[in-house]
Amino acid sequence: MSSFQALGLSGALLETIQGLGFETPTPVQEKIIPVLLQGDRDVVALAQTGTGKTAAFGLPLVHLCDVQQRSTQALVLAPTRELCLQIHNDLENFSKGVKNFNIVPVYGGASISEQIRRVKRGAQILVATPGRLMDLMDRQVVNISSIRFVVLDEADEMLNMGFKEDIDHILADTPDTKNVWLFSATMPREVRAIAQAYMSDPFELTIGQKNQGNENIEHQYLVVDERHRYDALKRIVDYNLDIFAVVFCRTKLDTQRIAENLIRDGYNADALHGDLTQQQRDKVMKAFKEKTLQLLVATDVAARGIDVSNITHVINLNLPDELEFYTHRSGRTARAGKKGISLAIVTKKETGKIRQIEKAIQTTFERKLVPTGAEVCQKRLLQLVHRLREVNVVEHEINDLLPAVYEELMPLSKEDIIKRFTSLEFNHLLDYYRGAPDLNKSTKGETYESNERFVTGDRLFINLGKMDGLDKGKLLALICDRTGLKGKDIGKIDVKGAYSFFEVDKSLTDSAREHLHGFEYKGRMVRVEITGPSDDRPKKVKPSKKKSRDDWFARKTKGWR
Ligand code: AMP
Repeated sequence: MSSFQALGLSGALLETIQGLGFETPTPVQEKIIPVLLQGDRDVVALAQTGTGKTAAFGLPLVHLCDVQQRSTQALVLAPTRELCLQIHNDLENFSKGVKNFNIVPVYGGASISEQIRRVKRGAQILVATPGRLMDLMDRQVVNISSIRFVVLDEADEMLNMGFKEDIDHILADTPDTKNVWLFSATMPREVRAIAQAYMSDPFELTIGQKNQGNENIEHQYLVVDERHRYDALKRIVDYNLDIFAVVFCRTKLDTQRIAENLIRDGYNADALHGDLTQQQRDKVMKAFKEKTLQLLVATDVAARGIDVSNITHVINLNLPDELEFYTHRSGRTARAGKKGISLAIVTKKETGKIRQIEKAIQTTFERKLVPTGAEVCQKRLLQLVHRLREVNVVEHEINDLLPAVYEELMPLSKEDIIKRFTSLEFNHLLDYYRGAPDLNKSTKGETYESNERFVTGDRLFINLGKMDGLDKGKLLALICDRTGLKGKDIGKIDVKGAYSFFEVDKSLTDSAREHLHGFEYKGRMVRVEITGPSDDRPKKVKPSKKKSRDDWFARKTKGWR
């Protein structure tokens, strides 16, 4: 095992590292720090989050920047405000021992005038989200024309979030002589293209196998009926008393709804999504970091890149639409060598996606059963008994109180006391779980039945698609909103660029068309046409169950391998 001393970092930095409690470099640090310290190479590093990559580029940046000069020498680009703040915080820690080192974070959603003031005071390193940086460039506050290093952190995420053009625009303002250090958890074709466009002969490093997840993460899944997803989530939380988790939902609306339901049901939960004000988001994140909040219910975008230690579970209440998001979600746990569980709650129909994720990240998921009500009660009881046995008794403080307690309990036998103590703590839980269904058993629930119906449904064309900012969820919401139909009435939805297809039960086709056709959406007249029965889909869309899974896999993992 190598030591930090062998990597070539300055004495001041070695002292700082010691102060931070980092004893040995992580693999990415060990391999990359000596290369970066040479200060003359482009680097592409494929490393999962939680591997210590911020220090892998942060320590060399602090080492290489010249504090005698006030000009901006390095730029770190990150996809989200949260990640930007986190990197800034880490860099501040790394540069503690160096006087006059100014590292300035610039990100959207906060006062621009304060950021301008800080940038004007001189920033050797800027840590920025693309949008706000471009704003500051336009205002000619930021000058990156002579920078020496650009770090693209979570590059795949930046591209997923549509920052490709912004990155092009920003890099066009940097000198050809700069070095680019690109860090990414996954390596889709688009990231490769960035590497090819902006780097020459980069040093390439892969930590673990390509696309392989962090080995300390245990991947598990539960199979439940659609309508039991939320109940399964509660069972998991009830069963794991010390759970400290991020629960991922697909949409902001779901996130808010699930968090509200959890709070209503007595759980310590809160929501994190883009519709909250910055102040609300900061408050939630602060509570989660301080561990006064136990369940953070979040969207992919809002929780991207967050580094909170000791998260025990990442719970995918729904699997993400984009396969790569799964890696980012699960990377919230098992950070810095710790272990963690990434759990997906899926319906039977979705188990195919689990197989595809397994293939893509080269790991195996373990199928788990949802704990039954009796199992939850038993586990909680044993935990309580354990706590009872281990509790610290402060004799001199309670001695005075005990005679009255003895007197009250005198008529009861030992067995009675145990029974009553158990009931006192457990009656509400027992009440709640009395007669609770076994969520592992697939009932003939509405969802399965309704899906069957679409074998004889109609397939409709609609002239709205991704171009209009729609995805499956948004289109479904729009259809339901306009037509009054329920989610269960709608079958498969295919969202394309400028148009989409969706299926409805035959008996509802006319009504769906009537309500949607001719209405105006974001300035466009909506056109809906019946293309035929749903089982008459074009072959390439859904040739067979097996083939369509392969298609999904091929599409989602394009460029991964
Ligand atoms: P990152 O992948 O940069 O988000 O880092 C994940 C976590 O690992 C952060 O909390 C770091 O403080 C911590 N960390 C980074 N390097 C080391 C190290 N060499 N030893 C122990 N912890 C580290």
